[in-house]
Amino acid sequence: MTSTKLLTGALAGASLLVLAACEEKTEAVKETAAPEVSAEPADAGPTTDDVKTFILEAEMELDRMFTRSSEINWQYATDITPEHEAAVAEDGAILTAKMVELANATKKFQGVDLPPALQRKVNILRGGITIPAPSTEGAAVELSNINTRLSSAYSTGKINFEGAEVPQNQTELLMRDLKDPAKLEEVWTKWRENAKVTKADYARMVEIANEGARELGYKDVGDMWRSGYDMDADAFAAETDRLWGQVEPLYKNLQCHVKYKLNEQYGDDVVPLDKPIRADILGNMWAQQWGPLYDNVKPEGASDENSVDLDALLEGKGYTPIKMVETGENFFSSLGFEPLPDTFWERSQFVKPEDREVVCHASAWDIDNREDIRIKMCINVDGEDFRTIHHELGHNYYQRAYKDQPLLFKSGAHDGFHEAIGDMIALSITPEYMKQIGLLEEVPGAEGDLPLLMQQALEKIAFLPFGLLVDKWRWQVFSGELTPDTYNDGWWALREQYQGIRPPNERPADAFDPGSKYHVPNNVPYTRYFLAHILQFQFYKAACDQIGWDGPLHRCSFYGAAEMGEKFNAMMEMGQSQPWPDTLELFTGTREMDGSAIISYFQPLMDYLEEENQDRQCGW
Ligand SMILES: [Zn+2]
Repeated sequence: MTSTKLLTGALAGASLLVLAACEEKTEAVKETAAPEVSAEPADAGPTTDDVKTFILEAEMELDRMFTRSSEINWQYATDITPEHEAAVAEDGAILTAKMVELANATKKFQGVDLPPALQRKVNILRGGITIPAPSTEGAAVELSNINTRLSSAYSTGKINFEGAEVPQNQTELLMRDLKDPAKLEEVWTKWRENAKVTKADYARMVEIANEGARELGYKDVGDMWRSGYDMDADAFAAETDRLWGQVEPLYKNLQCHVKYKLNEQYGDDVVPLDKPIRADILGNMWAQQWGPLYDNVKPEGASDENSVDLDALLEGKGYTPIKMVETGENFFSSLGFEPLPDTFWERSQFVKPEDREVVCHASAWDIDNREDIRIKMCINVDGEDFRTIHHELGHNYYQRAYKDQPLLFKSGAHDGFHEAIGDMIALSITPEYMKQIGLLEEVPGAEGDLPLLMQQALEKIAFLPFGLLVDKWRWQVFSGELTPDTYNDGWWALREQYQGIRPPNERPADAFDPGSKYHVPNNVPYTRYFLAHILQFQFYKAACDQIGWDGPLHRCSFYGAAEMGEKFNAMMEMGQSQPWPDTLELFTGTREMDGSAIISYFQPLMDYLEEENQDRQCGW
């Protein structure tokens, strides 16, 4: 379901410092990594050449380590066995220790006047660890053990429901398909029981990682995460608030409309109009995307005739998983990108193997930081996976575009860019495009716009406040503003403030509800998804402007626009080699992230919602 798309970032592109590992030879290699500096005369600090040598050697070593790590992680993800799991855990500890060592080694370069590109690499090395361990004896191992426990508690979590044992991924399907509020509440509440026992581990993780961050010169881990955006950490937080301010009115109108529609269905007891919406009746375990509610909230007059059912079209035309991927490749080819390499087709996992357990969460991989790009999915022939394929391919094409950059620049301009590329392409899967490739016989008229926009908004607009608040919560946790005693109340304060939702029941004192969301126990930063939701529309609008589109924005498809594609590729080729505003400017002509493209795209829906909500009691 939805989390497949969100999870991907952990393994894709921006993964440089998230995913990697080491080999047995680490200790020996380490000896050669930084000897030049100590060879300097005692009174002279390191020179620019020393830093250059240090970085060059670090890049060579990390290149080797990341490749090996990718292989180990790929093996695990496509064949889950205790041996492969142990190998991944061991890798994690060794890598963290190595990264901490390299990051700490950069401290002696403070005050050396370096050329910008070299300074940038030093900064990336220093700030790029997601969860740093302090260099104290045993800390990296303790941290890795805690993180493995947290992660496995999540993925092996199960609930008992109607006499059966239900694993995590199927609880998500129950939240999507059940309609009875009592049963929804039961599944929702039981899934959160699992997280309670992880609170102590999480709190200890926060302590250790904060120590690691302070050792590297940051206030705390949140400060370190916010520092990765080519601007001051506080300025970045303010920037996310500014972007939220641009899209908040649209969200509030959507929330209000959904509340009233659910009230019609469930009545005042379940959906009182003067309160935030119950989190368990929005069709999703975390109330983060509301696509399953479409039938409850669809605009009047929306019918099968004037809306496009991509699931049925794919099935009707006999699409196979491979054909879906080929169709995605064909879109990129139409923009002038080279076809995917043979190894992509030979090595990717497209469908769920029958003879072994695998991680089905969709992800994109760049095994050797060069040519060996792959996706790993368990593709179902439906519209959601068709879009996810484009999302994942976006990572792969981005990775290939920046393959000639030095290792430390092989990443997205910032992590939001990486998540936005494929989604920007997927926005171009319009009815007109579907007709062009023979999927759809006839494009619905203007009456089909509102249903399509409502479907899109339930996914993309509903997601925005959630995408923002997960890290707002973690920033408060890492800064100490929230303590283990207030973790849960702080979480719900943000959920209410931004999303206008509330828990279905009073939460017990020992609850740890944020721990029920994959990215919290797995320490995957989340602001990237908020930024990607803004950027994908901004990229899309820039592309449509470049091809001279002057119709309603949401109907634009840039399929076949090779000239635009060339410019798009030029942005992608830059990787992380320069501050992201420079890279953004290359393609969009502007240096700021901007939510106004979202507003243009959804304008017809906004008009509709404002009219529907006219006499309603909105807000919460
Ligand atoms: Zn992704």
